Amino acid sequence: MVHSPVDSAATEVSAELFARAARSIPGGVNSPVRAFSAVGGTPRFIAEASGSQLIDVDGNHYTDLVCSWGPMILGHAHPEVVDAVRSAAVHGLSFGAPTEAEIALAEAIAARVEPVQRVRLVNSGTEATMSAVRLARGFTGRSKIIKFSGCYHGHVDALLADAGSGVATLGLPTSPGVTGAAAHDTLVLPYNDLDAVAATFEAYPGEIAAVITEAAAGNMGAVAPVDGFNAGLRDLTRRHGALLIMDEVMTGFRVSGSGYYGIDGVAGDLYTFGKVMSGGLPAAAFGGRADVMDHLAPVGPVYQAGTLSGNPVAVAAGLATLSLATDEVYARLDANALRVQELLTQALTAAGVPHRVQAAGNLFSVFFTDSDEQIVDYAGVKATDTWRFAPFFHALLDGGIYPPPSAFEAWFVSTALSDDDFTRLADALPAAAAAAAAAVAPGQD
Ligand SMILES: *Cc1c(COP(=O)(O)O)cnc(C)c1O
Repeated sequence: MVHSPVDSAATEVSAELFARAARSIPGGVNSPVRAFSAVGGTPRFIAEASGSQLIDVDGNHYTDLVCSWGPMILGHAHPEVVDAVRSAAVHGLSFGAPTEAEIALAEAIAARVEPVQRVRLVNSGTEATMSAVRLARGFTGRSKIIKFSGCYHGHVDALLADAGSGVATLGLPTSPGVTGAAAHDTLVLPYNDLDAVAATFEAYPGEIAAVITEAAAGNMGAVAPVDGFNAGLRDLTRRHGALLIMDEVMTGFRVSGSGYYGIDGVAGDLYTFGKVMSGGLPAAAFGGRADVMDHLAPVGPVYQAGTLSGNPVAVAAGLATLSLATDEVYARLDANALRVQELLTQALTAAGVPHRVQAAGNLFSVFFTDSDEQIVDYAGVKATDTWRFAPFFHALLDGGIYPPPSAFEAWFVSTALSDDDFTRLADALPAAAAAAAAAVAPGQD
C-alpha cells in the first residue's frame, strides 16, 4: 500500500471534514478518485475556485491541473458562464418540457462535429455511453460490444471490464455487482491493436454491434491512438456491419473545437460527449448519424429518457462555454499544455528520473519508465513505475500545484493559467522530481 505521507500544508479542516464525510458518505467521497486512495494523505475539501485557482477549506491555494477532470477549459467561475447560469436559473430550474436553448446546444454540437447529425442530451457521460451502446444494439440487432483495456466509458455495467480511470487507480479488473450476464457480451481487447480487432470480428461473424473507443485514450493516462488505429476501426466496423462509437466525453471540445475528430478526422457513427460541453454542470450528450439516432423513442423503438435531461441551467452553462471556446482558446490550451509538459520534462530530466511525458492532443500525463518507446496500451501503462507517483504528487501539492491524484489519469489545463502559475509550477517541480527520484520500489524498502 501507499506510504502515508505527512501533509506539510495545513490540512486540519479538510481532515476533519474527511472524517465527518466518511460517516455519511462511503469513503467520504462521491466519486472514488477524490479520496486520494492511490496517493494517500488528506483529500482537499474545496471551498471555492476562481480562474486557475482552487482554494481549500484550510485556505490553501492551488494551481489547478485537473479542472474538474476536464470541463473547466476557461478556468473556474468564468464570469460569462456564471452570468448565463444565473440568468437561466431565475427563469426556472426545470420544466420537464422542451426549451429553445436545448435546440441551440444540439445545433452547436452538430455544427462543430460534422458526423453528428442528431443529438440527445443526458445527465452524465455514463448515461451517454450506456444509451449509445443500447442504441447500437437496437439498431444492428446484435449483442456483442468490443471495448479496449484501459479505456473508461463511465460506470456502465457492460463497460466496466478492465476499465481505466478510478477502476485502474484502485486496481480492479471489474466490479462486484456486475453480473456475468451484463458483461457476457463485452469483448475486451488491447488498445491500439487492430489485428486483435480484425481477429475478433472473424471469430464472431454477424454478432458484434459496435466498437466503443475513447477517440484518444485519456483514462489510463494519455495514450493517443497510433497512426491508423482509429481509421482501421472505421474500416473494420464498416466492413462487418457494426457501428463505431467514438467516446469523446473527455476529448470533446477540449483537444480542439471539434474534439479529437478535429485532430484525426475519423468519423464515428455515434459519439458521446460530456465534461466541457456542459461547462461544469451535470449534462452530457450522445449523437451521430441521423438514421441511427432516429431509432430512439419517440421516433423509433429504442427507449431512452431523463427527468432532468436538457436541464435549462446546465444547457445555459454548456452553451456559454461552447460560445466562448474560440480558436484562440484552443491555441491557448495547446500552448499551456506544452508549457506544463516542458517544465515537467526539464525537472524530471534534471533529477535523473526515468520518465516519459506523453500527450494526446492537449491532454498529457507523466509515466515513470526507462523505456524509450511510446506507451500504446494498458499493459504498458501498468508496467510503469507507478510507485514514484505518490511522492511526486504530494511534493507538487505542497508546492501549491493540484495535479491528478493518480498515475492513471490525464492532466488538464485551462486558459486561466498565468505566468504566476507557471512560476509556481517551476518552483515546485525540483522538490517533486527529487521526491520521485528518491522513491523506493515496493518490496525494496
Ligand atoms: C468521464 C468519462 C466518462 C463518464 O462521464 P461521467 O460524466 O463521469 O459519467 C465516459 N467516458 C469518458 C471517455 C470519460 O472521460
